[in-house]
Parts: sequence; structure tokens; C-alpha cells
Amino acid sequence: MKKFKPLALAYLILFFMKITPGHAAGTAKISYKVTFPEAQAHYADVEMTVSGLKQADLELKMPVWTPGSYLIREFAKNIESLTATADGKAINALKVSKNTWKINTSGVNTVTVKYKVYAFEVSVRTSFVDVSEGFLSTSGIFLYPKNMLDQPSIINITPYKGWSKVSTSLEKVNGDPFTLQSPNYDILYDSPIEVGNQDVFSFDAAGVKYEVAMCGGGNYDKERLKKDMPKIIEAETAVFGENPNKHYTFIVHNRQRGGGGLEHLSSTVLGASRDAYSSERGYNGFLSLVAHEHFHLWNVKRLRPIVLGPFDYENENYTTDLWIAEGFTAYYQNLILRHAGIATPESYLAAMAGDINTVENQPGAKIQPLAEASFDAWIKSYRPNENSYNTGISYYDKGAVIAMLLDLQIINNTNAKQSLDDVMRYMYNTYYKQKKRGYTDAEFKQAFEKFSGQNLDEFYAKYINGLADIDYDKYLGYAGYKITNAFANVNEPTLGIYTRNGNGDNKLVTTVLRGGAGWIDGINVNDEITAINGAPVSDMNTALNGKKIGDKVTVTVIRDGITMDIPVTLLKNNRVNYKIEEVANPDEKQLTVRKKWLKL
Ligand SMILES: [Zn+2]
Repeated sequence: MKKFKPLALAYLILFFMKITPGHAAGTAKISYKVTFPEAQAHYADVEMTVSGLKQADLELKMPVWTPGSYLIREFAKNIESLTATADGKAINALKVSKNTWKINTSGVNTVTVKYKVYAFEVSVRTSFVDVSEGFLSTSGIFLYPKNMLDQPSIINITPYKGWSKVSTSLEKVNGDPFTLQSPNYDILYDSPIEVGNQDVFSFDAAGVKYEVAMCGGGNYDKERLKKDMPKIIEAETAVFGENPNKHYTFIVHNRQRGGGGLEHLSSTVLGASRDAYSSERGYNGFLSLVAHEHFHLWNVKRLRPIVLGPFDYENENYTTDLWIAEGFTAYYQNLILRHAGIATPESYLAAMAGDINTVENQPGAKIQPLAEASFDAWIKSYRPNENSYNTGISYYDKGAVIAMLLDLQIINNTNAKQSLDDVMRYMYNTYYKQKKRGYTDAEFKQAFEKFSGQNLDEFYAKYINGLADIDYDKYLGYAGYKITNAFANVNEPTLGIYTRNGNGDNKLVTTVLRGGAGWIDGINVNDEITAINGAPVSDMNTALNGKKIGDKVTVTVIRDGITMDIPVTLLKNNRVNYKIEEVANPDEKQLTVRKKWLKL
């Protein structure tokens, strides 16, 4: 990603040492043709040509993951029917690892490789082809020649019949929308391509040309989006002090039910529900997704943990800093809507309380420290199972909470002269722009300490690397707020399980909460509850009506086809429902901090 801008020589050398050992002469020319002769069966056909070769063999590789989504996805699994020709003659392409094909190129100038990619996984980070569109998530479409990640390439696209548009942040060659160029593979793999008949609209914001490609239809109001999206973009640009792109593309996949997003350098892919735009809740949810993914163009795409770029496309890239890269972005996705004047202070505080409740109600928050949640994203948060709620914490939710604590601390300690914004801008200028590299854990901590004017060893020990209870009132108190638990006086018994509807009135257990009644007395995930005290359960919410904490009930379940009775002693429901409320008589300092925080 650093290759986006001219580099200092020392960094260039380091870069090549890291990812291009034995770098090839650099004279090869690489081009791709993408066609969709079998779009109805979900295939993209790729023809790759590498010419100007002067090496004994050529290894072609497919990335195993796509940056921003921390899971080994094995994109090579979708490749089939790979054939190669060398200087026009058929030649063997030998599979030498799960994602590598080796071709003997001794005495060969030009190699052409053809392959088909099966693309039928709907998500923001996987490719999807049918007769209505071709979405190319490039890290799963284009093979790269080993040691040539720094090489440019040309991509020519022949649309399926009736498709008329291409939306991508890649530059066009001679203004032809179907012929694109990429300066290197970091850019290519960071530039998804949408081909089809998307509804495209554009606007200018923060001096940048923005294009929005709406795919799949939907009840969005273009004029309203054209008014609100620039407000978000301007507010985010103000945090960092500059908007580094010339143009930026939003690719929005509207489906019956959709969500999620994936950030890129100069574009993003968003998932949305086709008919959600008309409700205020749905519309604001979309805007906060826009704010989240767009904020990433700085936080993680440019200002980044040191291991996240240049990327290793063949292995996990471990970092303990996703609580900053993702958690802070999750914090800003709501704060920016407030700062842009789209969300009210009340709705912002409610969203923040929502993050606090998510953290405080999750048993795993007392098991997995935040830094560890980030490091293990590859094997835990991206590979959740039925026990994840008990063993892990989301670095999005807890990271957002930590961002709030630090923001309030800095605003308080500087008498509202500075905020977390100043840290983000300082880090962006120092590491992305001046040092032209990612940051280490210690460097971000030093920046927090510099701006808050205090040592944060204890803060890190408690909240980042440890499992201490968070002192919300201390930090919210700086702004004259406190948290109150709306469930404080609720004394209801519970089984400590979550269920969904099963066969008939049966309830299927999906989660058994750590330390709860069901956990202690042995209810299992996948148990199908048929009765409690002999009576069928039409509604789990009312199944324990009339019961008290400490009462014994008999839960009848079917487990692996066998019916059994499980005696369970009901325990108190310890769920919290925090709200952020004003303290009585906030003083002038508290009101000053609040004004800065919420931009009142
Ligand atoms: Zn994110």
C-alpha cells in the first residue's frame, strides 16, 4: 500500500527484502482478460499472459486471504481447468502447493494461462457471478507470478451480454471503462471490480470525486444519500486533515438481506438490505456502515499496524492492534454521524451504550483480553462456534469502548483543547506520511500518552492486555455522564441459555451462558427442549413465569434422539441494560468536555 506514494530509498530496499527476494528482472509484462461465457453457472473465465520472461520457471500463485478479512479462505479452491501455453505451444502447469502452479519457462518468452473461477459466494470479500452481475473480489480472481508483486498489469474485461458498466477504483486505460490498469498487485488486490448494470451516481466531497454503484436495486433515495454521504466524508476528512484519494468508489450490494463491508484503499464494498433504506433505523444503519468503511481509508489502509502491509498473501498476518484498526473505526462510525450533525446526541449516546452492553453481557469478555482477541482473529472471531460467546470478545465492540475512554481522557486532560482526533491525525502524519510504514503497539501507546499527558501502563494492563472491570463512571464522569443499569432492580430467574424455535413448540438451545444455571446443571447446545416441568414451551420468555431464583425445574430435552430430564436450579438473571445518563449538576469543566466530545 505504501507503493501508492513515492518512497524513501531505505524503505524501498526494506520492502523488496521483505516480499520480493530474488526479484525477477522486472521486465515481464502481465495482462489479464476476463470473460463471462458461463455467467449463468457462476464462472469468470480468466486468461493471463506473462511476456518478456527471462527465467527458468514461473510460479503462479493465488492469495489465500483478502486483506481486511482475517481468515484463510483458500481462494485457489475455486480455480479449475487451468491450462498453459508457452510461445503458443501447450505446456504442463504443475500444481506444487495448494495455491501454486509451476511452469517450465526455460527458453520461453511468453506464457498464457487460462483458468475458470467459480464465483457463487455472496459476501463483501468473495466473488459472485450470475447473469445479473459479475463481482470480482480480485484477490480470489487473479493469479500473481511469484516475486512479481510489484509489477503492473492490464485487465481487459468483456462483459456478459447486456452488461454495460464497470465500477472500480482501478484507473482506466485511455478512458476505456473495460480496460483497466494496476500499478502493482497490492493495488490490484485492493481494488474490487463490479461489472453489470448497476445504478451509478456521483458527487464531490472533500475535494474528491465519489462514485456510488448501487447493485441489486433497492428503495434508496439517491438525493438524500447525495446530501448525507458528503457530510460523513467531510467530517472524517477533518479528523485526519486530508483526503488522500483523487477518486473513491462505493460498491453497494443490495440484497434481500445483506450487511457488512470491506475496506479498500480507494473504494469499499458494502452489503445492504434492499428495502431497508426507507426506515430511519435502516437508513442510519447504512450511513454508519458508510462511515465505518470510509474511515478505514485512513485507519488501517494507510495508518496501519506494522504487519498489515506490505501483505503476506500466503499466510496469516498476525497483529494485536485490530482493536485500534477495527475498534476505533467502530467508535468513529457513530461519533462521525454525531459530528456530521446526522445523529442527535441522544441517539449517539444510545449507540455507545449499546456497545457497552454488548461487552458487559458477554461472558467471553472476562476470558479473552482485547489484544489477544485481535491476534487470534484468524482462528477465533473469524471461525466462531457455539461457545465463542463464552470464550471471546469482539475487538470491534470492546475496541469502540476503549476508544471512548481514551477520547474522554484526552479531552478532559487537555481542557477540551484536544481529543482522540488529534491522536489519529498525529499518527497518520507521523507513520503513514513521514515514516512511510505501519506503527507498533508501543508507538500508538506513546501517542495516547503524549496527548493525554499521562502514563498508560496501568490502563493497558487492565483493559488491553487484562480483564479488569471497566470504570465507566470515571471516564463518562469527565463529560458529566454516568451509566445506570435499567435492570438493576430486576430479580428474575433464568436458565441462562439462548434458544431458537425448533420442531413444533420445541426450542433448540443455541447458547449456554458460562456460569449460568444451564451451564452448571448441564444443558447442552443443540438440546431440543420439549417441556419445562412437564408443560410444552410455547414461549421461552414466559416459560418461567411464577418461578423464583433458587427454584428447581425439570427441563425435558431431546439430545441426539434420546429424551431426558435435566433438573436445573434457576439462577438470577444478571444481564445488564446500561444507559448513559447525566450526572446531577454537572460543573463547567464537565460541560466543556461534553461540548467537545459531542460537538454540541
Ligand atoms: Zn472495519
